[in-house]
Amino acid sequence: MPANIHSIELPSMTPGSHKQIKWLRFGKAGARPKVYMQAAIHANEMPGTMALHHLMPQLLEAERKGLIVGEIIVVPTVNPIGQAQLVGNVHAGRYNLLSNENFNRNWLDLSDAVAERVGKRLGDDGQANVKRIRKAAHEVLGEMKPLNELQTLRVEIMKLSVDSDYVLDLHCDIHAALHLFTSECDWPNGAIRELAADLGAKASLYNESYARSLTFSGVHAGLWGRLRDRYAQAAIPQACMSVTVEMRSQFDVSDALGRSDADNLYRWLMRRGAIKGQAQPLPRLLSPAMPMSGMDVGYSQGTGFLVFHVKPGARVKKGQAICDVIDPASALGPKARTAYKSQTDGILFSCRLDGYLSWPGQVMYRIAGSQPLPHRLGASGLDD
Ligand SMILES: [Zn+2]
Repeated sequence: MPANIHSIELPSMTPGSHKQIKWLRFGKAGARPKVYMQAAIHANEMPGTMALHHLMPQLLEAERKGLIVGEIIVVPTVNPIGQAQLVGNVHAGRYNLLSNENFNRNWLDLSDAVAERVGKRLGDDGQANVKRIRKAAHEVLGEMKPLNELQTLRVEIMKLSVDSDYVLDLHCDIHAALHLFTSECDWPNGAIRELAADLGAKASLYNESYARSLTFSGVHAGLWGRLRDRYAQAAIPQACMSVTVEMRSQFDVSDALGRSDADNLYRWLMRRGAIKGQAQPLPRLLSPAMPMSGMDVGYSQGTGFLVFHVKPGARVKKGQAICDVIDPASALGPKARTAYKSQTDGILFSCRLDGYLSWPGQVMYRIAGSQPLPHRLGASGLDD
């Protein structure tokens, strides 16, 4: 049976225009495990969309052969609002121009509303609690009355994702090695570790159970973490494992990478029991997970332009020079440069491009390290 293609209609924001989100279901609605995958919430981040482009024919074939056990939801480009933001010949996909919001912030924390609805009925039967919480989350979303297209996008997308066993939010960075962000509740479970191994992640970072910034993957993990904290006596498992996958750099879009990412995702889906079959042995995990508190974020102190000494994916040492900010008007050669050095032993997993402008406070690079660092402005935030 062919994949079922569906469409979410967003309300019109201007006369004569309206947008829609296409999504596909493979397998049967309600089957378990349920895996939800979306790409390009920051609209011009296409490596994940390319991976899904290569994955979907494989899912179609698996469906034709009756191999899909669970339910797999795929949203290849989840953000038509950002897709349409063409400004002066530039695609501005990261922030909603109407409200200046990062598209991957302000997702819906349903925990208070779910608690109000079912909190008193949460007991020591974990599976019964999972059912109650998922049902209540759907009811809460069903009662919301979003007004504009972005609010509608958030509510309608979460109706698709909120009851999933696994949520994969596919992003990319400006210049990066493949890495992922998850929460400390999710990492100990083998699923995310296996995903990191299957995808060949160069670095994996975990945040506290629920970050304040309300990212898409953060609210899915956070629903369970928040309820668990609130009802310590009740058995509340981490029923949704969610992860933000940064699929290398914005320009890393090719058939070769897309094909291999799709193969890796397919193998992981088999491993999780969503598709029948014997997955090949798990590849070696390239790096253990590291805490967000150990992440060294290189903030520029001044203006100039950037040149890097190290490439994403490289292991670096504390004190090693990562990049220079060059004052373009200075005639002093080496003295026109300010060097920025790593605060930790670790893995440089993302950075800006050579030649980018830097300004005070701008993030120039990120390094995953295993030891917590003294807190600095924004260092615990996830600006993916
Ligand atoms: Zn992104």
